Amino acid sequence: MPRPFAGNSYQCRIVAGNLRLQYQIFFRDHRTTYWKSLAGARSSGSRERPSARGAPGLSLRYVELWGRIDVVFNPRFMPGRCDLLMVCLRFAGAGISHMVICIFSTICIYVFSKVGGTRTRMKTAVLGRTGIEVTEFCLGALPMGPTQADLSLDAASELIRTALNEGINFIDTAESYKTYPHIRQALKGFEGKAIIATKSPASSYEDMERSVRAALDELQVPNIDIFHLHAPRATRTVFVERAGALQCLIDYKKKGKIRSVGISTHVVETVYAALERRDIDVIFPLINKTGMGIIGGTVEDMARAIRAAAEAGKGVYAMKALAGGHLIDDVEGALNFVRNLPGVMSVAVGVVSVQELEYDLRVFRGQTVPDHLKAACKRETKKLVIIQTVCRGCGTCVKTCPNGALYLEGGKVSVDRERCILCGYCNPVCPEFALRLA
Ligand code: SF4
Ligand code: SF4
Repeated sequence: MPRPFAGNSYQCRIVAGNLRLQYQIFFRDHRTTYWKSLAGARSSGSRERPSARGAPGLSLRYVELWGRIDVVFNPRFMPGRCDLLMVCLRFAGAGISHMVICIFSTICIYVFSKVGGTRTRMKTAVLGRTGIEVTEFCLGALPMGPTQADLSLDAASELIRTALNEGINFIDTAESYKTYPHIRQALKGFEGKAIIATKSPASSYEDMERSVRAALDELQVPNIDIFHLHAPRATRTVFVERAGALQCLIDYKKKGKIRSVGISTHVVETVYAALERRDIDVIFPLINKTGMGIIGGTVEDMARAIRAAAEAGKGVYAMKALAGGHLIDDVEGALNFVRNLPGVMSVAVGVVSVQELEYDLRVFRGQTVPDHLKAACKRETKKLVIIQTVCRGCGTCVKTCPNGALYLEGGKVSVDRERCILCGYCNPVCPEFALRLA
């Protein structure tokens, strides 16, 4: 890796307007000491530890071996202590010019945090009549989990924690995503409030009760902020067919174990059915600019349904803005399309790396995305892989797919890629492990 500086060197770049002060530091002999002094108990400067919490109000990311450090403000906090100043003094011996730059930077940090703190604050909205205030960027926990990218528990929880430290307060998960342990670990020691939405495919009262208890136990939270009927392809009859499960959610809301009841759906008519019900507080519909995955209507039809739901007082946040990865060549266009739809209060977006998180954060903050970040996030579009030799044609996945993308042919399953939105709902149900997203 090229080393832009040699010996004791220091460079500080202040980018006005987005509160970012970027330091590029190479103290060959003192790097570890420097890192310790900023990150407290963390002692390693290695790339194995890509992020760490620093002093209150500062989020530190150790990016490259030679020691580029981004100091990013968490707008919810103000720097309580002049940790950087302490570092300045520590390195005073490196030269008076370094010390002057450091002190100047520290003053700038303070001034920018006072003057411009609200400019990077992520937009928030109250979800309808629930009183629950969420950030516009909702972190989707599906792609990082075992059914898709399968990040390790530590990597996924660190990613979630980084998102929380960056100001995101909203996490969307589901029983079937199997990410409760990742969220629980991320929340350990977190002092802010994270809003958690989850969902269950249960139909009966008893099964939903098991789901609610499992969520409370596994997430180790006193209550669940939003609990959905997980009903991607269900039509308006879902409220009759799953009346027991819905009643359970209502009862647990009365007990204070659930703060609001919702439904997640890909179906236009189900959004209309939900907005008419007093017992549904939150709706989580699918929408993206191509309309991919919407059932029973066009993108315009779903947009109208969303607007009507919001006007009826429902909390509405959207899923699949990137169409399961099909729109990753136009992340900004795809996210901004959904963000700007009337009635959409938040958008759930899944990420699998810190780079993707930073990319999406920049879009939500209205900042430009540098080319190097776009390049770092470029990855092959996922696709559903079917191991035909293992498939025994049981049809379970065909019934599970919300988009009718799977069909049986000659005793084996096949996929219609035009209809597959890469949601990953089919792979966990295959008893033969014949399906995976790669
Ligand atoms: S085939 Fe699988 S991944 Fe594709 S839409 Fe259906 S359930 Fe989702
Ligand atoms: S669930 Fe698995 S075994 Fe059954 S049809 Fe689908 S891929 Fe084949």
